[in-house]
Amino acid sequence: MKIHEYQAKELLENYGIPVPRGAVATTPDEARGIAVRIAGRVVVKAQIHAGGRGKGGGVKPAASPEEAFEAARAILGMQLVTHQTGPEGKKVRKVLLEEASSIRKELYLSLVVDRSRGRECLVAMASEAGGMDIEQVAATHPGKIVRCAIHPAAGFSPFQARKLAVGLGLDAEQRKAFGEIVRNLYRLFLEKDCSLLEINPLAITEGGKLLALDTKINFDDDGLPRHPEIRQLRDPDEEDPLEVMAKNANVNYIKLDGNVGCMVNGAGLAMTTMDLIKMAGGEPANFLDVGGGASPEQIEKAFRIITSDPNVRCILINIFGGILRCDRVSAGLIQAAGNIEAKLPMVVRLQGTNVEEGRRMLQESGLRFTVADGLYEAAQKAVALLG
Ligand code: GDP
Ligand code: MN
Repeated sequence: MKIHEYQAKELLENYGIPVPRGAVATTPDEARGIAVRIAGRVVVKAQIHAGGRGKGGGVKPAASPEEAFEAARAILGMQLVTHQTGPEGKKVRKVLLEEASSIRKELYLSLVVDRSRGRECLVAMASEAGGMDIEQVAATHPGKIVRCAIHPAAGFSPFQARKLAVGLGLDAEQRKAFGEIVRNLYRLFLEKDCSLLEINPLAITEGGKLLALDTKINFDDDGLPRHPEIRQLRDPDEEDPLEVMAKNANVNYIKLDGNVGCMVNGAGLAMTTMDLIKMAGGEPANFLDVGGGASPEQIEKAFRIITSDPNVRCILINIFGGILRCDRVSAGLIQAAGNIEAKLPMVVRLQGTNVEEGRRMLQESGLRFTVADGLYEAAQKAVALLG
């Protein structure tokens, strides 16, 4: 789960990490009011779940409350396009107003779970070349990024903080402040079950102080059940409506850009199915795991989610009926397809207990089911249906 910058900064503040003074506004008038209270230069920042706002025109300085009003008016309601939003952009509904800082240098600091290490392991990364071009830096000057892996049992140690701080070229006092920031960041990461925590830029101000000017926090969805205070930070406006619908239906769904809808039981089988669709020359429209049960109700919900995506032109259903018998799956498919008046062609590949009976039921249903034996054959048939 993602949250907004203003929410993330509140969390940082609760963990003793220095952030600028500020408040969030939903109208230009409110923005002016906040600027009056801050009394001085402010920065007006679009709040969307995507980075790259600065380059997209979503971060504007303002020297007076009147300018803050104008900046907020320009940003609120705009369809902000950045390299992370896709070409359609994201509608801005809130702006964060903050006391402007004079920046001497912009650093980068993050904590992420590094799955490439073969076990869950956190990696801290820092760079003295922070700011808006960090992706560029990572691609062309990877040496400018210092890393250290944090073993889950050993935890984050002071020498690791020193190693990062030295890599950033900080003076003694800043090193101390930096050590404090990383330690608190690590504590926040563990206590709230984050999956990514990033401060970019971590500014060195003209006064030599460290200040988190921008931050991004993602949470591990599987940790959310134990954090009601984090769950309530969810912003449905920022989420894909189909994914919200799926979450409510307890269906594991991720929307993709293709046109072959997928309904599969089991995450591994679902990923294999997507790979085979690609191998057959098609593009999957989604990842969807209906779960082991695949009850008629669950199948119907899955159908509704898949067919709400206007790009979908055919559906590939791949169900392994082990404990769940194939004839039961077919009954569910027929009932669900009837209930939603499915108009799209559907390719079904069933395997498992009572598979013959299950296939016969589909073929005799009078609905638009094409039955396939093999998995790759099913993918090829689905792609062929696209015409
Ligand atoms: P992003 O583009 O979505 O990552 O948004 P950021 O919050 O990182 O803002 C982009 C850039 O705006 C930063 O890298 C800074 O250079 C600049 N910026 C943000 N806040 C301030 C501020 O308080 N003062 C000044 N002078 N610049 C700021
Ligand atoms: Mn940033």
